[in-house]
Amino acid sequence: AKKSGRGEVRFFNDAMNAAAKDALVIDGALRSAIAGQEFRLVYQAITSAASGALTKVEALLRWHSASLGNVAPDRFIPVAEDSGMIVEIGTWVLNEACRQLGVWKAGALGELTVSINVSAWQLADPAFVGLVQQALERNSLAPRQLELELTERVLIDNGGEVQSVLAQLRGMGVGISLDDFGTGYSSLSYLTQFHLNTLKIDRAFVMNIEHSERSNNLVHAIIAMGQSLGLQLVAEGVETAGQASILRQLGCHHLQGYHISLPIPADELPAFACRLKSA
Ligand code: C2E
Ligand code: CA
Ligand code: CA
Ligand code: CA
Repeated sequence: AKKSGRGEVRFFNDAMNAAAKDALVIDGALRSAIAGQEFRLVYQAITSAASGALTKVEALLRWHSASLGNVAPDRFIPVAEDSGMIVEIGTWVLNEACRQLGVWKAGALGELTVSINVSAWQLADPAFVGLVQQALERNSLAPRQLELELTERVLIDNGGEVQSVLAQLRGMGVGISLDDFGTGYSSLSYLTQFHLNTLKIDRAFVMNIEHSERSNNLVHAIIAMGQSLGLQLVAEGVETAGQASILRQLGCHHLQGYHISLPIPADELPAFACRLKSA
């Protein structure tokens, strides 16, 4: 028993070491990622449930590391958050998404809203509101064209100060969206306490609405509650026509997911929007 006990401890340590080494390697490679121009953004369409028109896009970060190849966000974002590097990376995302929005504005797409993911560290940075303002002004964008996606975690971690930062941003006209709603630390008090205007219903609930009455009821309840609070609702992870049709019936405003589009490079968006219109 003693021997197998030691074996388990050893195995556990090896697994921990491997995870720590992985994080260390990623951390090292991330340090030169911005300067090396290894990041790019892809954009996933968010459409009106009623009309099918393109209403927004979510910017999602992609990293092709010179030493590691493609690394998924779920692997490198947590590492960047641990080191605080996410602030610099997040600023790059903000500036790049706004630059791209300025390019689209000049073209056939017209006025579009782009949604970006913002981490707790960024909101806690006293420079954040100023950075947002600069990015909008530099690219001649209306504040309503930018939406910031926050997770419930962000609201918990930062508490009181976040309330005033969000109030300032909402005051400017920037949209604030609560991402992955219902997965983590949901407290209904957030919905009224913070200045939000959009709720994104997590894929975990959307996934089962066709076959599980419980999921269906839950999504129905989230939509009803969001509507009564005057919030816009976006369903994430919509993968089938059946899911889209149920969500439409339940009164969900916007749809996002592989059924509508994968995340695509910026230069493919105009053609995608054209195809949507003629569909
Ligand atoms: P998220 O914000 O919840 O983004 C949605 C994720 O679901 C994306 O994964 C997207 O590609 C994927 N997705 C979209 N539609 C579907 C679908 O129909 N089915 C399935 N199975 N998946 C779908 P991605 O791009 O790998 O990003 C993962 C997470 O990484 C994001 O989750 C977000 O939390 C984080 N992330 C991505 N970009 C950024 C960024 O610029 N800044 C920060 N702080 N986090 C980011
Ligand atoms: Ca998001
Ligand atoms: Ca999400
Ligand atoms: Ca997520």
